[in-house]
Amino acid sequence: MATSSILADARKLVDELIDPLADQWETERRFARESFDAAAQLGLTALLVPEAQGGRGLGPLAFVRVFEVLASADLAAAFSLVVHNNFARGLAASGNQHLIDLLLADTVSGAAMGAFLLTEPGTGSDASAITCSAVLDGDEWVIKGDKAWITNASDATALNVYAQTNPALKHRGIVSIVVDAATPGVTRLEPYELLGGHAMGTGGFRFDDVRVSRNNTLSPVGEAFGAAMVGIDLARVVVGAMCCGMLQRALDVAVEHSRSRQLFGGSVADKQGVQWMLADVATDLEASRLLTFRAAEALEAESDATIAAAHAKKFSVRAAERGIAACMQTMGATGFRRAVDNPLPRHLAGARIAAYIDGTW
Ligand SMILES: Cc1cc2nc3c(=O)[nH]c(=O)nc-3n(C[C@H](O)[C@H](O)[C@H](O)COP(=O)(O)OP(=O)(O)OC[C@H]3O[C@@H](n4cnc5c(N)ncnc54)[C@H](O)[C@@H]3O)c2cc1C
Repeated sequence: MATSSILADARKLVDELIDPLADQWETERRFARESFDAAAQLGLTALLVPEAQGGRGLGPLAFVRVFEVLASADLAAAFSLVVHNNFARGLAASGNQHLIDLLLADTVSGAAMGAFLLTEPGTGSDASAITCSAVLDGDEWVIKGDKAWITNASDATALNVYAQTNPALKHRGIVSIVVDAATPGVTRLEPYELLGGHAMGTGGFRFDDVRVSRNNTLSPVGEAFGAAMVGIDLARVVVGAMCCGMLQRALDVAVEHSRSRQLFGGSVADKQGVQWMLADVATDLEASRLLTFRAAEALEAESDATIAAAHAKKFSVRAAERGIAACMQTMGATGFRRAVDNPLPRHLAGARIAAYIDGTW
């Protein structure tokens, strides 16, 4: 399927559902369930899965463009879909026949929702130090420990759990295992109260001697940490693109407001100080796009994109935080007010979230 048709679907989702509902999800402090379900109907839940396996077969470049569009309305709803799509990609690419038969069709259709469980209450950036343990007992893994800061935690059904099999091996001892969230011993913890972004349903899980078939191993011991890092390169570029989407939207709203708002005998847009502020935002946005799409092209070409992805994420997040705040400033108090036609406060919180997800900055 042509990328243009998928981008049109993403725009439709933004116009018809995410834009109208995003402020409500925030007010009600709840997961963007309607967004996930509508995305599933449009086939946006398996964008990276090859067409031969039922997905849309997008490459990284097209994938990134889809999320630039979705995040222009709401980073949280968009990121929930990023996490699910990354889960689907990993399952299709690395899942054994048991996991494919068990879960791929439901993951592609959105009947199952994926989550990525690496972070723990005691460790985030230093992911090799995770303490959630997995011990083999015959043909079953026994998993014990806590996970924290998990996107989609409120609704996810298929959990990709990273666990340590032998602390002496550090990152080489880590395995990843797919766990059904309904398995006895799995407790879904209360989602967190946050500055914003409740639509991504972030929360934690507790695993109390959870028994799962050894066949549910997604990435074996010795390979799981590397697999997590491969996914993170793409996710960082997507975060860069989502920041571009939010910043473009902020700029559009601020420019429109500055043209219509009258003060001191003319429009705000006539004031040179305001023009300079908005021009700086436009320059930062262009630089963010260049870094982001250069990193996406490296991923598309299957070359090493780790450094390019880190540059793209760091620059785009900072440009978005600075730029969205500047856009709000040009709008005076109106910029600070949450409203259906003013996503800037939500996007400012979204830019802060972008500074943490998939590694700080
Ligand atoms: C909304 C949200 C959703 C998330 N979703 C997920 C998810 O789905 N799955 C998941 O596994 N995780 C998720 N995370 C967790 C995220 O990946 C972590 O927050 C991130 O890895 C940072 O870890 P930390 O918060 O524990 O910070 P820490 O690791 O405690 O870092 C604290 C500070 O130290 C700095 N720092 C770290 N290392 C160094 C260093 N070597 N030198 C100098 N400074 C350093 C950091 O930049 C930071 O400023 C999510 C987080 C948020 C906020």
